[in-house]
Amino acid sequence: MITDTPRGLFCEAGNFYIDPWQPVGRALITHAHSDHARPGSDAYLCAAPGATVLRHRLPEARVETLQYGATIAIGDVRVSFHPAGHIVGSAQVRLERAGEVWVVSGDYKRAADPTAAPFEPVRCHTFITEATFALPIYTWDPPASVIDEIVTWWRLNRDAEQPSLLFCYVLGKAQRILAELREHAWEPIRLHGAMAGVTDAYREAGIALAATERIAEGTRGKALSRALVLAPISARGTPWMRRVPNASTAFASGLMRVRGVRRQRAFDRGFVLSDHADWPSLLGTIEETGASRVLVTHGWSDALARFLAERGLETATLRTAFEGEAGELAPEPEPAA
Ligand SMILES: [Zn+2]
Repeated sequence: MITDTPRGLFCEAGNFYIDPWQPVGRALITHAHSDHARPGSDAYLCAAPGATVLRHRLPEARVETLQYGATIAIGDVRVSFHPAGHIVGSAQVRLERAGEVWVVSGDYKRAADPTAAPFEPVRCHTFITEATFALPIYTWDPPASVIDEIVTWWRLNRDAEQPSLLFCYVLGKAQRILAELREHAWEPIRLHGAMAGVTDAYREAGIALAATERIAEGTRGKALSRALVLAPISARGTPWMRRVPNASTAFASGLMRVRGVRRQRAFDRGFVLSDHADWPSLLGTIEETGASRVLVTHGWSDALARFLAERGLETATLRTAFEGEAGELAPEPEPAA
């Protein structure tokens, strides 16, 4: 039903691509991260709750939407979107033709996230899964306890008049943190300029977030000494950092599960908060799909494929241009508008 081509994952029976990395005629989009939603295609189809953010990221694109669970026919294929729990509007794509069912997961997670509808397991014959954190060392604590750690860190820094500078992914992670902190924030959370547009798009999409304030030109030092500041990792080592002298720095990412990564990158704190499934969730999800064939892409795909093959599943790895773990560290470009 799906083949990997130089332009992306292609469904010939429906003449469309899923998250293509080259411009195509028709692109079905699992979610708006830049490694999954690239500009230049003629037409885009995404799950309805993700449209506002996708249009923000790709202002020139012709975007059509489909509600979660609704089915349409494209060529010979019946297509539906189902929640993936990754970021706002993220979807798994279910394809059915002549009784055969495939599901393309995109990126997904099973942990609770106030900005995303919970992941819905979908039965299928072939499941295409991500493998960003597909190693047994990657297990996540409940998000509520990670949020408590962030709040405590901020409170202690605040008492010491030291800014709390939390690096996180611009699209998804930042807004998840803002949604979680809605009940906890003592004052508006300050945003690096690169975070402001997409955060507004989340509010437009109806997601309730903590109050925020974009850091204005010239704001620095004392004015931010009690603030929690969210910034993209790309701001590190730039002159922008002079606005928050002496800040306590932290990074919110699944990558922080590995202590060596935090030390090597010299963050004061690491908060293990990921928008991808951890190892037990990947295995549990694959089992819930009932799939007899699992195609694995990006991240630790070889490790996961080998593990599943040893348990008797038919598996293969798919070469895609999705970034997975690298995507967590890469800056998210803002559209020029
Ligand atoms: Zn993603």
